[in-house]
Amino acid sequence: MIKDKVIIITGASSGIGEATARRLARDGAKLVLGARREDRLKDLAGEIEQAGGRAVWTALDVANAGDNHRIVEAAIDAFGRVDAIFLNAGLMPSSPVSALKTDEWDRMVDVNIKGVLHGVAAVMPKFLEQKSGHILATSSVAGLKAYPGASVYGGTKWFVRNFMEVLRMESAAEGTNIRTATIYPAAINTELLGTITDEKAAEGMKELYDAYGIAPERIADVVAFALDMPEDTTVNEFTVGPARQP
Ligand code: NDP
Repeated sequence: MIKDKVIIITGASSGIGEATARRLARDGAKLVLGARREDRLKDLAGEIEQAGGRAVWTALDVANAGDNHRIVEAAIDAFGRVDAIFLNAGLMPSSPVSALKTDEWDRMVDVNIKGVLHGVAAVMPKFLEQKSGHILATSSVAGLKAYPGASVYGGTKWFVRNFMEVLRMESAAEGTNIRTATIYPAAINTELLGTITDEKAAEGMKELYDAYGIAPERIADVVAFALDMPEDTTVNEFTVGPARQP
């Protein structure tokens, strides 16, 4: 049951995170929304509350460990507990290795990898105390297969895959009742392509997304499916994308 679950969503200001927030709010979740664009979060939380849902928001840069602790504290202040965290914030400045966009490599490591680690570190003490919790993270099909242009991006998403799977195995062995779910989206129409600065990579991606991209609401649907499972069941991994994308 999603109703009354307290769920933190990072990257809630657009795309997959925003669509998931709207979906879970309709299902009766109590939401804590995080991202850097405060105006977006404020508007989204306001819309949800006006429609009869529950949502608070906190400005957060997932690359900052302290911000991750603050959003968990905000959830506890607002709703008294945390049932799930959706570690979804990310960026995808694709480029060939030869372009040597080292600042973008650093940023992807900071946000896509460290953002997930800091999020888990921030929420884990609460989950251990509660003896239950659900950790969901957005990887990518680029975390399953190598794609030119996605050397570093794909690497960060392979990291998420490995980390989440080991976390699942350890949690099961330790009997902590902490469940995990890793999502591998293919081409989803969001603002993600706006993070690409390499002209050729941007053109190639635009062509792919124009041809195949599907709505972020489809990812929201599968996140809701995983969250809706009873406590004795885990949906570990799912790949979701356009039916026509090769
Ligand atoms: P969007 O660009 O629409 O959303 C990205 C979200 O991440 C925004 O809310 C953005 O908010 C947030 N974000 C980015 N950097 C930070 C940061 N440092 N701290 C906090 N929040 C941050 O793209 P998507 O919805 O597509 O992306 C969501 C996830 O899905 C990402 O992890 C992405 O890699 C993954 N993904 C997407 C695919 C697609 O085709 N769209 C395919 C595979 C995976 P703000 O700028 O306000 O901080």
